[in-house]
Amino acid sequence: MIIEAGYDIVTLADASLNRNSRTRRALWMITMDEYLHLVTTTRIAREMDLPVAAYIDEISAALRQPPLPVRYIALAYRATSPSSDSTWLGEIDERLTADGWLGDVELLGQVVFDRTGYFSTVPRFSFRDYIGLEHLPRAVSVLGPHDVGCECVACVHFEQMLLENRQSAEADSG
Ligand SMILES: [Zn+2]
Repeated sequence: MIIEAGYDIVTLADASLNRNSRTRRALWMITMDEYLHLVTTTRIAREMDLPVAAYIDEISAALRQPPLPVRYIALAYRATSPSSDSTWLGEIDERLTADGWLGDVELLGQVVFDRTGYFSTVPRFSFRDYIGLEHLPRAVSVLGPHDVGCECVACVHFEQMLLENRQSAEADSG
């Protein structure tokens, strides 16, 4: 799965978090690789009873676990008392990313559910529609057929990924 837009992240967050009363109490992290392929949806804390910034150590630890490497993340949880002020969540984003503890990992935003809906700092639509997100990978559709040896951008990229995966598997086993 390629995450192409913020609504993909909201859909994943909703599916992970809003399954039952237990999953709703957890802090969730959605991780993506350098191509915005989904890597994992992980439970960072089973009972989230502190503000999200209190879980930096747990998030760091989860980012060091395989499967690696992770390049982008989003966080999802349920708000106990969300503010009606529209800037509160953006301020948490800023606090979360302030001191560089994430390294090369980029926080795409947070999705915070309450009783009636959700708040999100993840861009809502296709990432390509936003100024400031030009650095993100872009999903494309290339019409088929894609015969063996096809030299279209999608097939060339796929072959390159296969080669890199093989090389890294060989390096791991050697
Ligand atoms: Zn092709």
